[in-house]
Amino acid sequence: MLRTTCPYCGVGCGVTVTDAMLQGDETHPANSGRLCSKGAALGDTLDLPDRLMKPLLYGQESDWDTALDAIAATFRDILTEHGPDAIGFYVSGQFLTEDYYVANKLMKGFIGSGNIDTNSRLCMSSSVAGHVRAFGEDVVPGCYDDIGKADLVVQVGSNMAWCHPVLYQRLMAARGTKIVAIDPRRTATAETADLHLALRPGSDVSLFNGLLVHLAECGAMDHGWIARHVCGFADALDAARRDAPSIEAVAGATDLRAADVRRFYDLFARTERVVTLYSQGVNQSVCGTDKVGAILNCHLATARIGRPGMGPFSLTGQPNAMGGREVGGLANQLAAHMDFTAADIDRVRRFWNAPDIAARPGRKAVELFEAAADGQLKAIWIAATNPAASMPRAGRVREALQNCPLVIVSDAWPTDTTALADIVLPAASWAEKDGTVTNSERRISRQRAFRAAPGEARPDWWMFAEVGRRLGWAEAFTYAGPAAIFREHAALSAFENGGRRVFDLGGLAALDDRQYDALGPVQWPCPADGPASDSARLFADGRFPTSDGRARMVPVTSATGIERPGDTLVLNTGRLRDQWHTMTRTGRVVRLMAHEEAPLLGLNPGDAAARGIEDGGLVRIESRHGEAVLRARLDPALRSGTAFLPMHWTDQFSSAGPAGRLVHALSDPISGQPDLKGTAVRVRSVVERWCGLLLRQDDGMPRFAADVLATKAPIVGGFAFALSGWGALEDFARTERALHALLALPVGAEIIAYSDPKKSVFRYAGVASGRLLSCLFLGAPGSNFAEAEPARGWLGKELTAESRLSLLAGREASLRGGRNMVCACFAIEEGAIREAIRAGRLTSTAEIGDVLGAGTNCGSCIPELKKLLAPSGRLAEVA
Ligand code: SF4
Repeated sequence: MLRTTCPYCGVGCGVTVTDAMLQGDETHPANSGRLCSKGAALGDTLDLPDRLMKPLLYGQESDWDTALDAIAATFRDILTEHGPDAIGFYVSGQFLTEDYYVANKLMKGFIGSGNIDTNSRLCMSSSVAGHVRAFGEDVVPGCYDDIGKADLVVQVGSNMAWCHPVLYQRLMAARGTKIVAIDPRRTATAETADLHLALRPGSDVSLFNGLLVHLAECGAMDHGWIARHVCGFADALDAARRDAPSIEAVAGATDLRAADVRRFYDLFARTERVVTLYSQGVNQSVCGTDKVGAILNCHLATARIGRPGMGPFSLTGQPNAMGGREVGGLANQLAAHMDFTAADIDRVRRFWNAPDIAARPGRKAVELFEAAADGQLKAIWIAATNPAASMPRAGRVREALQNCPLVIVSDAWPTDTTALADIVLPAASWAEKDGTVTNSERRISRQRAFRAAPGEARPDWWMFAEVGRRLGWAEAFTYAGPAAIFREHAALSAFENGGRRVFDLGGLAALDDRQYDALGPVQWPCPADGPASDSARLFADGRFPTSDGRARMVPVTSATGIERPGDTLVLNTGRLRDQWHTMTRTGRVVRLMAHEEAPLLGLNPGDAAARGIEDGGLVRIESRHGEAVLRARLDPALRSGTAFLPMHWTDQFSSAGPAGRLVHALSDPISGQPDLKGTAVRVRSVVERWCGLLLRQDDGMPRFAADVLATKAPIVGGFAFALSGWGALEDFARTERALHALLALPVGAEIIAYSDPKKSVFRYAGVASGRLLSCLFLGAPGSNFAEAEPARGWLGKELTAESRLSLLAGREASLRGGRNMVCACFAIEEGAIREAIRAGRLTSTAEIGDVLGAGTNCGSCIPELKKLLAPSGRLAEVA
């Protein structure tokens, strides 16, 4: 049996591999054997098609030497002509720590620029900035066990049920813990909270400033601890009093009922063991660092930090966002929790023997792509991330990449970004890579390779090291493997540390290869002189890594807000339960796509009615930066004035393209984290004139006219493309040539056609050598294409005379009713669950589990099961 780690979210669940069977690792402290729907489907991602196998140079297959020589030669020319700041790296929280370490060392140590940033900038850099400002170092004080030990868990801007499902299950298993969810959306997480505060988007600072004032007024602060261990208390409290003088003022600023605000404040004040969990709803904001500061202030003022069941807790989105923070993968960090101070620069320069080390921070993500757009950047290397889809103003990012003289992209699968690359480097994927990752609770786990990389795919660290060697720095970039890199990383963390930096892996710096291979999950700090007294929890002793050893309470005040014209909505973007990032892996797994097959724009029913928009109808959404046509979903879980769009879809999966095209690039001025949840958009109804369903084996997005919405989902044996048109059906695919292209047919293939123009029914099947290659069904809006159901099972198969006859004939079956995949682990759809509840008079999720098994594996679907049981969704009152 081999033990490795799930590559998706920051929970960092352990996975065991036996004869290609993947299961949750019962010995791993993060998950004790549990996996969520995404983790449970990891086995389905091992043999996905379309892997990048060979280096591509300007669209032509090449070899590693040619590609790496070309990169090194161009970098050398740029360094000579334009200097180090004309080169940039944009890397990823999907990287292993070893990949991150080598890329950071190459850029900051030897190329000599700070221009390496990571997609973690979009995910949690406001938490990093908040930690550094308050604690003196980017340190998460607590651990997962605290969630089970807390009497009150406050969830702020965090849909844990979908985004950190295994941790959410740990919380659900904790008996008697009160839960307050603070989120403008009534998410699956909020559904199960004791109290849901659906605050006005962006008003978190008011809410927590008001809490600080309340804690002061009701005597809940620990003034002795504050006097000994905290600076800035009086200023922070003054600022809070000016910002949020009363509960009524907070209620006005947050648009909450004063009674609900008071209930939350009283609960917080009278409960000693409080954990505040927060993630993207806090971080992705123009005032994300101040939101974090407002939360930390409340914990510092009550000394609820670093003790069992107490503390602020930032949940990282990506599997190794934390590892990136450790090595210095953000442009404003140097390395190993050292900054761009003269002393740290000198220390790292000596350790790396890097005379030309960068002397100042580099460009953060948004600035990096702006520099590419305006010509300052002459080369960018993008690795394991897809900024052409995921960055704000993604259209502008695409223009920037087209404008940049050299774009290198290393990835495992084709993406919207590889499509814009001059050089594409084939990267090894999860099952093929060896190294370490660090989860949200500072726990380092090994990721172990258990398959050979296909074709010529190689690990990312190797690519960066090879370019470093070709640039003349062979001594610095010759590594026998990831173990050697890890040893160096650990040694740097301990180098001249002397207890000044909490991040210290000195105890791991002498691991030999065998010990590295066998390394079990371990939390840092782990200094050379023995384990820290309690590495699971930090700061309980009141000593912080600041110049005077005290924490800083920082005065924060509410942001003035973003100007939003009267008829616009605030667009929030976020994750779905069964998808990961830009769907390069999860979007190709049938059972994961069945939960949500298309990107739906969530709208509050009142806002929709005011615009004449119906549930399932087409809508055009426009921001200052882009527009798209999508289907709407009316969702009472959304506050009036807000809209929600999943972040996952890209040009590879939908003609509507990525949400990133619509999103503004306003960022937090301290952290540089973009506000991905506050774009002003206009939404209006679009009249749908026809719809269609295309089934085919070829997975490429077909080219359509501008008036067609097409969304791709994998099915067994091929792909289904849901089509909707707002132009005339007569103009769509009515020529033989257009049909051949749509059906992706080879020369000589036959098209079987059936049509009834009076009823707007058109059906086509592409057949070659007796096998069904593709089908196209077109009809009036609302058609459910029941007749397509048998064709799904015949894709790629030889047709019998009978199946050929019935291929395009009608059948009584429903394609749309009940296809929502509620339980992805056991492939149980909503319709089956409703039927079981009705037939068995089921009243609890446990009874559903007994009858169907749904919800008994990862538990990610339990909030949805609860919704099916209790449509009214009334929340229990707080005692
Ligand atoms: Fe993977 Fe799910 Fe665990 Fe996250 S919660 S690490 S996605 S199994």
